[in-house]
Amino acid sequence: MSTAAPQKFEFQAEIKQLLDIVIHSLYTEKEIFVRELVSNASDALEKMRHLQLTEKDMQDDAQALEISITSDEAAKTITIQDFGIGMTRAELIENLGTIAHSGSKAFLKALGEGGAKNTNLIGQFGVGFYSAFMVAQRVRVYSHSWRKDEPGMVWTSDGSGSYEIEEAADQTRGCKIVIELKDDCADYAKEWRLKEILTRYSAFVGFPISLNGNKLTTVQALWLRSKAEIKEEEYSEFYKFQAHAHDEPRYRLHFSADAPLAINALLFVPQENTERLGFERLDPSVALYCRKVLIDARPKDLLPEWLRFLKGVVDCEDLPLNISRETMQDKALLDRLGKVITKRFLKLLEEEATQRADGFAEFYTAFAPFLKEGAALDYTHKEQLVKLLCFESSLTEKDKTTTLADYVSRMKDGQKEIYYLVAPNRAAIESGPYLEGFKARNLEVLFCFESVDEYVFNNVREFDGKKFLSADHADVKLDDVPQTGESLSEAEVKELSEWLKTTLGAQIADVKSSDRLVNSPALATNADKYMSPQMRRMMKAMKKQGDADEPVKVNLEINPRHAVIKRLAVLRTSQADKAELVAEQLLDNALIAAGLLEDPSRMVARLNKLLESV
Ligand code: ADP
Ligand code: MG
Repeated sequence: MSTAAPQKFEFQAEIKQLLDIVIHSLYTEKEIFVRELVSNASDALEKMRHLQLTEKDMQDDAQALEISITSDEAAKTITIQDFGIGMTRAELIENLGTIAHSGSKAFLKALGEGGAKNTNLIGQFGVGFYSAFMVAQRVRVYSHSWRKDEPGMVWTSDGSGSYEIEEAADQTRGCKIVIELKDDCADYAKEWRLKEILTRYSAFVGFPISLNGNKLTTVQALWLRSKAEIKEEEYSEFYKFQAHAHDEPRYRLHFSADAPLAINALLFVPQENTERLGFERLDPSVALYCRKVLIDARPKDLLPEWLRFLKGVVDCEDLPLNISRETMQDKALLDRLGKVITKRFLKLLEEEATQRADGFAEFYTAFAPFLKEGAALDYTHKEQLVKLLCFESSLTEKDKTTTLADYVSRMKDGQKEIYYLVAPNRAAIESGPYLEGFKARNLEVLFCFESVDEYVFNNVREFDGKKFLSADHADVKLDDVPQTGESLSEAEVKELSEWLKTTLGAQIADVKSSDRLVNSPALATNADKYMSPQMRRMMKAMKKQGDADEPVKVNLEINPRHAVIKRLAVLRTSQADKAELVAEQLLDNALIAAGLLEDPSRMVARLNKLLESV
């Protein structure tokens, strides 16, 4: 049989199965065929570059190592040519006719695991060369191997079950793939369309790419270069290009690692947290690359969710181009990759916090919500994240903050808990009744101005073995301190408490003499100790209209040394009506301070009545 005559081959059974799925899938991102073919071209050029260093005797058509793409809208064809290593006849059969190679094999494996119903699989896998058949009615692969004595070849198939190979004269070294587009895919031959696809997926390919004779701007894969040679402006330009950003990055992390995975990463923190400014929730946007070819611009399973503000690129050589989120093995790989990156990034933040505190404070102002979210929800990194949190406190000046570690270093002998108070601002905490008992005992209290803070403390539970405890919590027990000023007697307190309980009725669970009040007459703690005022407000906000409000029930603590309380003890018997008004107002005042007052309307009428008697 003459090798010059066309020879017909059946595809291996698995390839037939694969092609059948590829061709009949309704997968919408058919454009990835461009990425796949360009990445094959780039691989072939990479191998060629290597051979040029090691081999002397080779087919050298004096071609530059580049990729040339042409399209013909009228003829509905796209041609992708490279001057790489090419393929011999045997290699065409081996590489394009059997399932020996990686990507498609993994795809079929996933299909075997029940993925056949999921057409998305194709997008995740790429299925390499065969993805061309999503858009092509026929594919021709013209090829000349780098080996000198091999003839030029052309491989042809319509993807339906068989392919043909015959000799083709006048081939230059490398591969030229001609795609005859299906009618409904003719759009891909439009130059602007191809250009857009190439910019998206192949901007960092390490060889020049031309489209219909015009060089495309490819961008240097900066992450693969050594840090020492990269100028500040180059980083900044790269960030703007890659993240579609207009600002200057706030932080940058450029690193490479060999173990446990071969990673090159270049990450950026932007100036602003747009979520804080009220824009929509961010999508993960650290893009995943494998040797300069984009795998996924927004990989969901790479980094923990709280890192969704990070921009940049992670390139991992150990990933197959066709990584899948479906198979356990690949998921574990992504997971490991994500852990390495997160660890490095946390280390950067730690360094910034200790070495450049002012800059970190600015970062923190904008990005703290993410760190808090991570502390509360990312179990793996919670400990490192909690260390980064800072708060104002009763011992800091306004607008100055302390870390938890510093707080702990100042804790008094015998202090077991880390105290905090949540309120909208510093003034609200300082004027409320809860702080004074702590102040009198020199106990530091953290000031938290975000309602999420309480959620964070509830989830994190403790730091350095010390539990977090809200200073307005019923569980707070403070040591006795010598109190000044004349106090009601124990019996008087008891009688007054009973009277308050009956007078104030359903809202009161208990009344007792307080050990933590100094300058205020009374305070309220939530009787349901698992329900803080913040949580209560949240629940209320989530309630449907018409749902009845759960009535608040509080414990009232009274200060037996306070003039109002002492006066009330007398008034109770001398002027019962007025005493009742005072008691109700006392409760409302305490509820306001606790953030628990729900209906202030009755208060105005009551106050007017009290004012009448002045
Ligand atoms: P993968 O790239 O994962 O190996 P593909 O289906 O994309 O799978 O390609 C199959 C094989 O065909 C490649 O491994 C390579 O050996 C060969 N091949 C594809 N395109 C080219 C090309 N342009 N030049 C040389 N060989 C190629
Ligand atoms: Mg490939």
